[in-house]
Amino acid sequence: MAETRMLKFVSVPQKRPAKRAADERTHDFDEIYREFVPAAAAEQAGRCSQCGVPFCQVHCPLQNNIPDWLKLTAEGRLQEAYEVSQATNNMPEVCGRICPQDRLCEGNCVIEKGFDSVTIGSVEKYLTDTAWEQGWVRPLVPRRALDQSVGIVGAGPAGLAAAEQLRLQGYKVHVYDRYDRLGGLLIYGIPGFKLEKDVVLRRTQRLAEGGVVFHTDCEIGRTIAFEELRARHDAVLIATGVYKARDIQAPGAGLGNIVPAMTYLTASNRTGLGDTVPEYESGELNAAGKNVVVIGGGDTAMDCVRTAIRQGAKSVRCLYRRDKENMPGSLREVSHAEEEGVEFVWLSNPQAFKGDGVVTGVMAQKMRLGLRDSAGRQTPEPVEDGTFTLEADLVIKALGFDPEDLPAMFEEPALTVTRWGTLKVDPRSMMTGLEGVFAAGDIVRGASLVVWAIRDGRDVAEQLHKYLSVRADARLAKAS
Ligand code: FAD
Ligand code: SF4
Ligand code: SF4
Repeated sequence: MAETRMLKFVSVPQKRPAKRAADERTHDFDEIYREFVPAAAAEQAGRCSQCGVPFCQVHCPLQNNIPDWLKLTAEGRLQEAYEVSQATNNMPEVCGRICPQDRLCEGNCVIEKGFDSVTIGSVEKYLTDTAWEQGWVRPLVPRRALDQSVGIVGAGPAGLAAAEQLRLQGYKVHVYDRYDRLGGLLIYGIPGFKLEKDVVLRRTQRLAEGGVVFHTDCEIGRTIAFEELRARHDAVLIATGVYKARDIQAPGAGLGNIVPAMTYLTASNRTGLGDTVPEYESGELNAAGKNVVVIGGGDTAMDCVRTAIRQGAKSVRCLYRRDKENMPGSLREVSHAEEEGVEFVWLSNPQAFKGDGVVTGVMAQKMRLGLRDSAGRQTPEPVEDGTFTLEADLVIKALGFDPEDLPAMFEEPALTVTRWGTLKVDPRSMMTGLEGVFAAGDIVRGASLVVWAIRDGRDVAEQLHKYLSVRADARLAKAS
């Protein structure tokens, strides 16, 4: 009986797929979790209590129909479960791997309150990985052939999700990216131990085989003028992400071997993909044998510390001005990093960098948490006489990202921005101030999450479809 397969949270404890031991996984860049065995996936899915109001679904940015695919998984109806899960998500296996589930679906699972939550992300990953293996992931076939075309700037998750949805509707879709590979931060930002690159490659390959035309090494605003792009297409989507690294103003900040996080991570990811990266070969962007200090407390900082460990750093320390409870990064990532040998130096702020030509140390100030700001967060303030120095041969700055100046890059002052530099769009139509130019993903939201980029990509595709349909109808009416 189907029902008896569910509600097992009382008798079955939470069990995630096996995690590779820290001393094994720190020698490679492979993912750290193994796959569920089928029986375990069914058993874990069966812990779901099939809530009438599923808070897991409410707190998933894609509003995934989680209870239904958990029930189908528990019943062994995996292909149907996969069909349900992919109906709302263009990359369920990516989200299953890298969503901060503790803050989204799993963190809001009602059984989390007394029992550990259902392992939603691991089941989602398992379903889609199985679908790929079994050939259930169907080729992308447009519903019809339309003669209108859309130009998408940026092949990150927002651009790719929009490309898939628009191609499905039958539009001609061209995606332009300044990188030589597709995937945006999925390929050059996020390390392989969280998301193996084959997972991204098979997705982009499916889109290319479905007729999405990709133009790599093509920077809009440089290789092709934005005006020219608009002339080529009936509508344009800007999904360029945010890449301007926030910097540190402190004495010695200009010394050698103090590098931005994305420069460091891109070099590591490129090396893993088989490229020869001179700065990695020379040691400039390689942590091997070095004392590494990473500054920041977000997910990017976590990726840097764990990359440095895998490159064979002598020591890896993470300097963050607040404490563990108040850091922006996922606590699950912190515990992975701790297991792997990263030392966290909480409540510490860099004051100056020491060295002669290249950095040799970071002078830091001890902090304590003071009064709350308008957002309710306690503001860090210096502790008197609390300075100390950490030895460092490589310092990685992971302080967050801001948008580049797109109106200037695109020579298009009519593209308006918010006070944070993100693109302004009409919240309903997702169109910028320029007719037929839409925007989505981090460039609108600010640095966010993959799952939100996918959501925005799907939403903007719907708006683009509405916009283009009205124009096509108007053209037909005029012609008749
Ligand atoms: P992006 O992924 O940034 O893609 C934008 C693309 O646009 C890029 O390929 C870029 O080359 C291209 N582009 C930019 N300008 C131009 C131009 N002028 N012409 C042509 N192409 C252009 N999120 C999670 O959910 N989980 C995680 O674990 C996680 N880890 C992260 C780790 C790191 C190190 C970083 C930096 C981010 C992480 N994120 C994570 C956040 C997540 O990656 C982003 O929110 C998401 O990728 C945003 O998608 P996007 O499509 O808007 O932009
Ligand atoms: Fe959870 Fe992310 Fe999957 Fe939604 S997409 S169910 S938040 S893992
Ligand atoms: Fe199942 Fe938890 Fe979602 Fe309820 S909140 S439907 S128990 S996964």
